[in-house]
Amino acid sequence: MKKILVAGAGGFIAGHIVKELIKKGNTVRAVDIKPLNEWYQVSTEADNLVLDLRLRENCYRAVNGYNEVFNLAADMGGMGFIENNKAACMISVLINSHLLLAARDCGIDRFFYASSACVYNGEKQTDPNNPGLKESDAYPALAEDGYGWEKLFSERMCRHFMEDFGLTTRVARFHNVYGPFGTFDGGREKAPAAICRKVIEASVTGNKEIVIWGDGLQTRSFMYIDDCIKGIIDIMYSNIREPINLGSSEMVSINQLVDIVEDIAGYKLERKYDLGAPKGVRGRNSENTLIRHYLNWEPSIPLRTGMKKTYDWIKEQVVNDSRITKGTNRFNK
Ligand code: NAD
Repeated sequence: MKKILVAGAGGFIAGHIVKELIKKGNTVRAVDIKPLNEWYQVSTEADNLVLDLRLRENCYRAVNGYNEVFNLAADMGGMGFIENNKAACMISVLINSHLLLAARDCGIDRFFYASSACVYNGEKQTDPNNPGLKESDAYPALAEDGYGWEKLFSERMCRHFMEDFGLTTRVARFHNVYGPFGTFDGGREKAPAAICRKVIEASVTGNKEIVIWGDGLQTRSFMYIDDCIKGIIDIMYSNIREPINLGSSEMVSINQLVDIVEDIAGYKLERKYDLGAPKGVRGRNSENTLIRHYLNWEPSIPLRTGMKKTYDWIKEQVVNDSRITKGTNRFNK
């Protein structure tokens, strides 16, 4: 069995990958900058290390003696975070660059990089009826400022390490991933988790109002974590040499996403629209011809099904929050 390094393992997606790779019988080293008690999931079977992977020496330490690398470490969050932290997002370029150097020098066999739909040209995302972004729509480049440019640059680093140094690299462009064991509060959360949390908070506190960022007509597609994990592993061990979309093509507006969550909760709210809040592009969807061609598969877990599981998990976290059960309302601070 292989020895696999997972970077960003204290985070949402990589925490699930660690579990899956261990289940498949691999030896896993899990690394994150956060202290262990802040990881969403800690797999005791893994070699868990707390390291800042922006630093070159830490990347060599993490990679040495291992066969493969999954890099999901990045300083990131939802629109509210990436619009206000462009420099921090771009500094993640150090993580991938140093991991690539370590991978090359330590004889790594395969390297996976988590890219994003934020690499796509903004001018192709001005209509809510987005026909789906195909891989070639990343060029001519006009990526999301900060975060998207870092992803695009790092994609190209992966490509050139493959061309120039023979390192096998695989790159997937994720479209909004959601599910249990991810960020749902604190400012880095994305729309599905944020909406679940807002609806849960309202129903717990008896509030009748929800604030939605933008006019609610902006569109996105959302991929449930189980589809994401299957896609990452299948892409990693495929022959796909080019960056490829990994996303659902079930596009909804933010208003429709709120409808789904209200329906799951059995709780209807009056909507207030914050037009000044960060809202990102107008319309975005994943075009899945390429992944269907290569893998004869595409993410297909229905949004309603995945949102129910996500809602239930977030509700458990919120309801177990002692600040609510003790009567102090953290939500109205
Ligand atoms: P996450 O924030 O939950 O996980 C990222 C982890 O990286 C965090 O635990 C963070 O502490 C860690 N990290 C940050 N800086 C680090 C450093 N210097 N050294 C070591 N670890 C560090 O995010 P996620 O949703 O799990 O995303 C994983 C990857 O997928 C990221 O590269 C992200 O950009 C990409 N991605 C995610 C989505 C999504 O919808 N979640 C969409 C597109 C791309």
